[in-house]
Amino acid sequence: MEFLRVRLDEEADLARRCGGDGCGEWTALGGTADFCQMDLSGCPPVIARHIAVQDPARVLRKIEAKRSVLARHAFSPAGGDPELPWDDRDDCQYDGELRPCDDLPDLALPYAHHADHRREWLPHRMRGSG
Ligand SMILES: [Zn+2]
Repeated sequence: MEFLRVRLDEEADLARRCGGDGCGEWTALGGTADFCQMDLSGCPPVIARHIAVQDPARVLRKIEAKRSVLARHAFSPAGGDPELPWDDRDDCQYDGELRPCDDLPDLALPYAHHADHRREWLPHRMRGSG
């Protein structure tokens, strides 16, 4: 979770530095991506649209949504109370799966290229047999 928090903080900082704090909406028209204060022309239209989708304000909303999901899947340590045997394991407070539950590797997947990302954090479906 700390790895994800740091990555999201880094992305949010970058988005704010690119105008996510209200410079206006990034748009695309044909092969031109408009960043509000400047534009980039001569792109294939699909690339211009892709750039516009990275609008910093939109990126900040995506990060906020991911932070909300991350908070829901917080660690719930074993209770240690013999009267509550169902609560005597380290698991996810949201879904009760053993840590990490399936949602955390999915949230970490965009950062699989990062030097601090660990192979065991990949979703099960992507780990392969090796
Ligand atoms: Zn969970």
